[in-house]
Amino acid sequence: GLNEKPFRAKQLMQWIHQRGVSNINDMSDLAKSFRATLLDKAEILSLPVIKDEHAQDGTRKWLLDVGACNAVESVYIPEDDRGTLCISSQAGCAVNCRFCSTGHQGFSRNLSSGEIIGQLWFAEHLLRNDPDAVRRIEKYPTPGWEHTGRVISNVVMMGMGEPLLNYDNVVSALRLMLDDRAYGLSRRRVTVSTSGVVPMIDRLAQDCPVALAVSLHAPNDKLRDELVPINRKYPLQELMAACKRYLPYAPRDFLTFEYCMLDGVNDSFDHAKQLIDLVRNVPCKFNLIPFNPFPNSGYETSRADNIRRFRDVLMQAGYVVTTRKTRGDD
Ligand code: SF4
Repeated sequence: GLNEKPFRAKQLMQWIHQRGVSNINDMSDLAKSFRATLLDKAEILSLPVIKDEHAQDGTRKWLLDVGACNAVESVYIPEDDRGTLCISSQAGCAVNCRFCSTGHQGFSRNLSSGEIIGQLWFAEHLLRNDPDAVRRIEKYPTPGWEHTGRVISNVVMMGMGEPLLNYDNVVSALRLMLDDRAYGLSRRRVTVSTSGVVPMIDRLAQDCPVALAVSLHAPNDKLRDELVPINRKYPLQELMAACKRYLPYAPRDFLTFEYCMLDGVNDSFDHAKQLIDLVRNVPCKFNLIPFNPFPNSGYETSRADNIRRFRDVLMQAGYVVTTRKTRGDD
């Protein structure tokens, strides 16, 4: 829009996203006249931090101000073989899943692509100067660390909001995550999590096919209509068909189904059997998520032995199943 040559955009992208420079005057290989234009027209800012919480296990959570009394969260989750950042795509969420604290808050607005990628920009460049994060990465180098100095190796769009209901802004941000001049993350290491917005799953396959996680949470329409109300619009058979169509474009040859374990609601032997029937022709793995309680949710976390039994039924049917560890409890 500034009538500059395309290579200027590439230089700028590297200064901002690769090197984390926010002072336009420090961008030494940009022409003086271009810097002056940028100083006049642009500013490079992160979202104001309302809260910065550190947990014993290294998990770090930021509450970020997006204006008009709205805030979103980003969470850094370090593990031996990866550093994952969970980011938000909307302030609030309109999908209103019954077991989700964000769903209970209602929807405020879509985040801009800048507000989405800004969460990664902020966390990545802050953590490069965080001694704990650097110690971890020196001990357990993640792919590309030696060449890029990158602390965050994985991004999951599993924070606040339904990413596929803020499609254009999310795809712009995803493209920056993947671009070698910005963050250079592998498609396998960027995951979009959706409650099942069927037409947008098809578009994502064409526009930016990253890893896909589908929040299933129920094995039949009756229960899913109640837990994940978007199911009334895009019922399970349509969702499974969209998953199958996505697979040829997916960076791995399987999808992930997320399943929040709710005591006495969706965690029986029968539910596990129904789940196996439902996904029969969709190569997938399961991630079982012990419900994270919040006030007045009306749900309880499944008992540990029920989660184990549920997992075993799926595993005996040949599926890979992980049970999500809770992190940052304190
Ligand atoms: Fe919560 Fe995600 Fe459902 Fe929105 S789509 S209500 S953020 S679980």
